[in-house]
Amino acid sequence: MKPGISTRILHADRLAGSEHDAVHKPLHVAATYAYPNARALADVFQGRQSGYVYSRQGNPTGAALESKISMMEGAAGTVVFSTGMSAIAAMMVSLLRAGDHVVSSQFLFGNTSSLFHTLLGMGIEMSFVDATDVEQVRAALRPTTRMVFVETIANPRTQVADLAGIGELCESRGVLYVVDSTLTTPHLFRASDVKAGLVIHSLTKGISGHGNALGGSVSDTGLFDWRGYPNIAESYKQLDPRVWGLQQIRKKGLRDIGATLRAEDAHRIAVGAETLALRIERSNANALALAGWLESQPQVGRVHYPGLISHAQHARATELFGGRYGSLIGFELRPDIDTFTFLDALRLVILSSHLSDNRTLAIPVAQTIFYEMGAERRASMGIAEGLIRLSVGIEDYADLRDDLAQALGRFPAGV
Ligand SMILES: *Cc1c(COP(=O)(O)O)cnc(C)c1O
Repeated sequence: MKPGISTRILHADRLAGSEHDAVHKPLHVAATYAYPNARALADVFQGRQSGYVYSRQGNPTGAALESKISMMEGAAGTVVFSTGMSAIAAMMVSLLRAGDHVVSSQFLFGNTSSLFHTLLGMGIEMSFVDATDVEQVRAALRPTTRMVFVETIANPRTQVADLAGIGELCESRGVLYVVDSTLTTPHLFRASDVKAGLVIHSLTKGISGHGNALGGSVSDTGLFDWRGYPNIAESYKQLDPRVWGLQQIRKKGLRDIGATLRAEDAHRIAVGAETLALRIERSNANALALAGWLESQPQVGRVHYPGLISHAQHARATELFGGRYGSLIGFELRPDIDTFTFLDALRLVILSSHLSDNRTLAIPVAQTIFYEMGAERRASMGIAEGLIRLSVGIEDYADLRDDLAQALGRFPAGV
């Protein structure tokens, strides 16, 4: 029987043929590599021989992390980047041309939304639709549509896209389906189960978990047939068609843009990934309990969490994510309560813009991470002006509940 994911991640470096019997892949900090003769150097450059030429386009420490992410996703291959944003930007820039059309969920992480609007100004056409409804995606498709892009659980309002329905649609139309699974992590969800072609992670978030490194990844599930994709450069078409997409992302995206993950950070992320299952189980259990508790508090208005029966996509989330619902809660206080006064009363919960960290973090969304885009675009994403994003960590549950209770307790229970 094939070992489980946690077992495979924990033993991956050792079993891959360790250096000096070390249980961790060492940190390779060399910028460049030396070859015994010109033929060998040319062979590596031309892809006839595997190896490293210059660390901007990959190094052995990053490659060890790439193979672990491929294991978690059951993917054919992975390219890592210095941040989640550079992974998304490099993927888009390397695969799209002016005049191409992309259908994207309108419920997007703020910086992804900002990037997509930058691409709009560069001749990429974008349609933003409510991706919880596959019919809206279908209606937006055009002959020039090259890609459909969605987040699994949208940050910060927790809408759950019709991931399986969109996968069927993209497969039938031969359109590349890209899923940002940052909020689910491979512990809750495998993008290949819904027929995605590419899966994105911000490694800064749940996969590393400790808030001590930035990183991003693009994995190819192996399900998309790149032979039908119009923008592959002739030089990559000499290779096996299964690697065309990822090769173009590695060369045009990582090599040309240069958003390389440092070896130190690849190591930190790989160490974090060893405890992914433990951390996610704990943070998700905390979040489910807190969401239910918040919903019953008189000072609280709406609570958005896929684990609640009241969530519009609760049944879908249950089916897709194996009875876990992530660590992110969006909630609003009763309208007469000042959000900032409440946040300032928190003692344990940290006011921070990060998420999926071991520590519990809170942020007022409209005034910070979604401030720049303005009220109209916030409204289109379902973001109320008083929305608080709570990213639940792995602290002891009672301590989190007590902290929220003492902050809520400063406001009267009834109006
Ligand atoms: C944070 C985040 C990103 C960007 O990742 P960085 O590592 O911060 O650049 C992309 N998508 C989602 C859903 C995120 O939460």
